[in-house]
Amino acid sequence: MKFEIDTLGIIHSPYKEKFAIPRQPGLVKSIRARLELLPPYDQPDVLRGIEQFSHLWLSFVFHQTMGQGWHPTVRPPRLGGNERVGVFATRSTFRPNPLGLSVVELHGIGRERGKLWLELGAVDLLDGTPIVDIKPYIPYADSLPEARGGFAPEAPTPPLAVSFSAEAEQQLARLASRHPELRQLVSEVLAQDPRPAYKKGKPDEKLYGVRLFDLNVRFQIQEPHCLVSAIDPV
Ligand code: SAH
Repeated sequence: MKFEIDTLGIIHSPYKEKFAIPRQPGLVKSIRARLELLPPYDQPDVLRGIEQFSHLWLSFVFHQTMGQGWHPTVRPPRLGGNERVGVFATRSTFRPNPLGLSVVELHGIGRERGKLWLELGAVDLLDGTPIVDIKPYIPYADSLPEARGGFAPEAPTPPLAVSFSAEAEQQLARLASRHPELRQLVSEVLAQDPRPAYKKGKPDEKLYGVRLFDLNVRFQIQEPHCLVSAIDPV
């Protein structure tokens, strides 16, 4: 059977590229995002009662990678990028149907100038991600503390300590009114070490850049340290 499903809304998030997005929601707590509902779903009625829930399940489309196909096995970063496991034993983005599932914090509902949106926290979603379903998270059914977590038994401990150069500090100060949470956010994002698995555990001279909001965050990694050298407007 083939189905057609409709985009219900679009994510507006500081993550402007895939690089450095955490591998699951909840890992970067200070991130905030919006889910803007699209017509004909942009009616307050579809959200009636939703604010009673602290968290939501979002089904979404891996729209940026959906053209890249899939393989029966994948190498999860969690296993160091060497070992293969079945695609359905992972949360890989490269799946037969490019559907993602994330549980996210619900902070509130926004409504202004004919637009209707949900304020969300701790998402792992790229800016522009199409949302295809929204459901409340129901603790009694969805929280299973006794469940076995396979090769990802617990949240990874962020491996890096993040510091900021004098130049980056000045830029943070300049940006403070527009992005008050920026230092915390950059620290949380980079502490996870966003580099591909094969780069880890070796000397690395590379100057990396990642786009958050409209900013290019530049950094270098010498394990276990990450130095943010500059934060420049794109
Ligand atoms: N929690 C989801 C996603 C896990 S994969 C699930 O389990 O299904 C998480 C990765 O998805 C992130 O690291 C990010 O790189 C990627 N991602 C997020 N939004 C995406 C999008 N719209 N298209 C492609 N990849 C995306």
